[in-house]
Amino acid sequence: MKTIDHWIDGRAVESTSGATSPVFDPATGEQTAEVGLASVAEVDAAVAAAKAAFPEWRSTSLSRRAEVMFRLRELVDANRKEIAALVTAEHGKVLSDAMGEVARGLENVEFACGIPQLLKGEYSEQAAGGIDVYSIRQPLGVVAGITPFNFPAMVPMWMFANALACGNTFVLKPSEKDPSVALYLAELLAQAGLPAGCFNVVQGDKVAVDRILEHQDIAAVSFVGSTPIAKYIYETGTANGKRVQALGGAKNHMLVLADADVDMAADAAVGAGYGSAGERCMAISVVLAAESIADELVAKIAERIPSIKVGPGGEPGNEMGPLITAEHRDRVKGYVDAAPDEGATIVVDGRTGVPGDGYFLNPTLLDHVGTDMACYRDEIFGPVLSVMRVSGYQDGIDTINANPYANGTAIFTRDGGAARQFQFDVQVGMVGVNVPVPVPVSYYSFGGWKASLFGDTHMYGPEGVNFYTRGKVVTSRWPDPSTSTVDLGFPETR
Ligand code: NAD
Repeated sequence: MKTIDHWIDGRAVESTSGATSPVFDPATGEQTAEVGLASVAEVDAAVAAAKAAFPEWRSTSLSRRAEVMFRLRELVDANRKEIAALVTAEHGKVLSDAMGEVARGLENVEFACGIPQLLKGEYSEQAAGGIDVYSIRQPLGVVAGITPFNFPAMVPMWMFANALACGNTFVLKPSEKDPSVALYLAELLAQAGLPAGCFNVVQGDKVAVDRILEHQDIAAVSFVGSTPIAKYIYETGTANGKRVQALGGAKNHMLVLADADVDMAADAAVGAGYGSAGERCMAISVVLAAESIADELVAKIAERIPSIKVGPGGEPGNEMGPLITAEHRDRVKGYVDAAPDEGATIVVDGRTGVPGDGYFLNPTLLDHVGTDMACYRDEIFGPVLSVMRVSGYQDGIDTINANPYANGTAIFTRDGGAARQFQFDVQVGMVGVNVPVPVPVSYYSFGGWKASLFGDTHMYGPEGVNFYTRGKVVTSRWPDPSTSTVDLGFPETR
């Protein structure tokens, strides 16, 4: 059985902890590898390597750091297909979707190529007589990233591109469910000229995460995953004196007003609901349909579903792959099983006719869903789209704002005034106007509100640069020594 290693101090390192976790091909249900789970000592070795590499890396010129990012950009671009194939083999998403993931991750590397521009400080000449004041931003030291299974290539790139370009060294703890991509990216970083120790990968579970959270040589932690774990990471990491950004789960609503183009809304709901089998934190899971167009919209969504090609992600032409594990598939199915007893209607039942032995569930459409039902309250994270009927704009916005999650949302309308009011009223971090999956481009920042984010800083883009650096302000003068005197007064500027 193939084993998947750590990457410490510039090379692959076999795990010696004795603890392992199986890695499956979700399309067949077969185990394809096992991944070694790091012990405390293995995490400590990775942190020690990152700590030792930091002084030289932070002293490396901005141009040289940018050069490494430019080279990484070329290498990721040249190896898109290889990275996507690794994603598909362990995650299960279809190749076209995996290619999209790599492309969106690559945008973060491209953003980091501009690091000399992004790290420019401010300068005030003559803030007081003969005194100049300027600000600089410096790296934090060793920073860690803990990432979820659903974007094994993109989410690490959200984190390490900015962190490394800013002069930090990095320890990545990827999901144990699809751990291979992280190692591949480590090899590309080494080929790009990143010195040994600057980027390390520890495979692992809670043991590795807890060691990261308590390790005194780690200055900051970036986390993406489910809400209960995000809350735990934030509370534990900050209690241990670390800077933490922890992005959590989601329940994303798409509000379709009566004046919307119903065909366009149906296309968008199907793409955003069932893309990547619903395993996206920006997936639409609830369609709030204005009562007057609800029947038409439900019919149009339902008529599109049979043409979605479900099957192994590696087979060309398939549009939706399996779920990540058998347990997760059963959990998602459980919400469909329970929905009729709670009062919902199953319009399209995805529990039957699934292809092969993998962890498949076909696209499912629920109607007449209410806010008290489990399929509405919980993040399902599967190919289950719920339709809830609302009387109009105000009912829709009240429903969205009452939900504890606040990652993404979208409004579908032809009314510019309603769309503008929505952007003003809605208490959600990322908003689409006739755009169902509004993932910000890399030169903005990504993050939700409320239970979808713990911490103050969104991820990547300008907020990512702020997260991975801290400010310093220098007040300086180069006076004529002959004018120097003792002055006990508080410094004045006038
Ligand atoms: P998860 O929370 O189970 O795991 C995320 C990471 O935490 C993994 O590396 C895992 O090994 C680790 N982990 C799991 N349980 C732990 C524990 N008890 N103690 C310490 N560490 C633990 O999430 P997942 O199932 O891998 O990913 C899906 C979730 O991630 C969904 O909730 C999804 O919405 C969310 N997500 C959010 C965003 C966002 O940007 N807000 C993006 C992608 C995914």
